[in-house]
Amino acid sequence: MVAAASELNAEYDVVIVGAGVAGLNLAVHLPEACRVLVVCKGGLKESDSFLAQGGICVQRDKGDFRSYFEDTMRAGHFENDPATVKCMIEHSRETIDELISFGVRFAREENGALAYTREGAHSRPRIVFHEDCTGKEITSHLLAAALSLSNVTLCPHTTMLDLLCNRENTTCLGVVLKENRTGKIFTVRAGNTALATGGVGGLFRHSTNFRILTGDGLAVALRHGVKVDHADYIQFHPTTLYTKGRGRRFLISESLRGEGAHLINAKGQRFVDELLPRDVVTEAIYREMEKEGSDFVRIDLRTAGDENTLLSHFPTIVQRCKEEGFDVFKEPVPVVPAQHYFMGGVRSDLFGRTTMPHLYAVGETCCNGVHGRNRLASNSLLESVIFAKRAAEDITRGERAQGEAYFDAELYANPRRLAKNDKQNVLKEMKRDDG
Ligand SMILES: Cc1cc2nc3c(=O)[nH]c(=O)nc-3n(C[C@H](O)[C@H](O)[C@H](O)COP(=O)(O)OP(=O)(O)OC[C@H]3O[C@@H](n4cnc5c(N)ncnc54)[C@H](O)[C@@H]3O)c2cc1C
Repeated sequence: MVAAASELNAEYDVVIVGAGVAGLNLAVHLPEACRVLVVCKGGLKESDSFLAQGGICVQRDKGDFRSYFEDTMRAGHFENDPATVKCMIEHSRETIDELISFGVRFAREENGALAYTREGAHSRPRIVFHEDCTGKEITSHLLAAALSLSNVTLCPHTTMLDLLCNRENTTCLGVVLKENRTGKIFTVRAGNTALATGGVGGLFRHSTNFRILTGDGLAVALRHGVKVDHADYIQFHPTTLYTKGRGRRFLISESLRGEGAHLINAKGQRFVDELLPRDVVTEAIYREMEKEGSDFVRIDLRTAGDENTLLSHFPTIVQRCKEEGFDVFKEPVPVVPAQHYFMGGVRSDLFGRTTMPHLYAVGETCCNGVHGRNRLASNSLLESVIFAKRAAEDITRGERAQGEAYFDAELYANPRRLAKNDKQNVLKEMKRDDG
């Protein structure tokens, strides 16, 4: 059910901050007896999970384990945690089957078998997809599942300002929340708390992310001394539609390059192997832009398929380009790299546990080592879904937090100042890691 902030209880068994794939999949895997609250900063559909275009990875068959593992490690510059990568790949098939059981429709071949596409740095096609809006397809089904559960309450337009901890800062006991509409600040206690607050794109001028995603999970972790890893590991997507002005950048999915779209410079010449990892392609684009003194390069979608193929596999992209004045069937479209994904985050283990007892972190907010220094395309939806489910299993097995909460209402009298400090802390951490 959906509830307003004023209708919430003072205590839940589990509080989840964030309603993207990670938060929702955690919620739907908790037992019926568990009273669950999911809060989110914007509307229920304002999450990056709804924006994911290309698809979600899966180990295609038994023989694919090694190659999928190597592709993930190579893209991550071998800084990935091998145990986490192994865990993700081994659980990938059952995860896709489970999503299908929730009603998610993936593209099929004529014979009914799942269709697979390919993206950069994958040595073979192993990505399942729904047109070019896979994230929306998956997340809307998870949202419907969460809404159907009587033990789960969803509360949109409610911002987590802080963790609620004991005075010693050694246990998480819930969250401090703000109702966006009224500005009312209140606390909710929880037996266990999970951060699923997504990425950091809102801190960047050019990003494909929703502007409300400003690394809040990371900020509260830093505030309470919860371990954060690799805050400087930021992925830039090589190809977002170049448009003037500010705001969220529209993604030109990597699977277009996987299907054969060419990147070209002002002379119409190709200058990079389009299927190299994202960081390498991004660098090549920046170099080319610098050489030409231009604000963008171009991508030619016509080499990825004929009109019918483009319209059936990439309808949203074709339409959006048209709205911006580009006919993809007649001309290449201008593209520029933009901040896209956050590989660093709140350190978490194979069950989403952070360094603070009773505090979990899942999805893009966490850093469990799966992506290393650079995420392999379409691994993030999979990772979010799998480790959120494992966190739910761990919470179910575990104890509830005990202790007296310490709440200093004065501290939140000026949430803007708090947010400014947090932003500075996060940026400082990014630079510290960098240097
Ligand atoms: C344009 C685009 C295309 C992508 N394509 C793909 C793809 O094809 N395949 C793939 O695997 N991945 C893709 N990704 C990445 C993937 O979508 C994300 O990594 C993933 O969806 C993250 O899920 P999440 O649940 O962690 O976070 P999100 O889905 O971003 O959800 C974050 C939630 O946290 C809430 N929140 C944040 N701060 C607060 C706060 N202070 N208080 C309360 N709530 C808060 C937000 O309101 C939101 O509900 C894409 C990303 C983008 C932006």
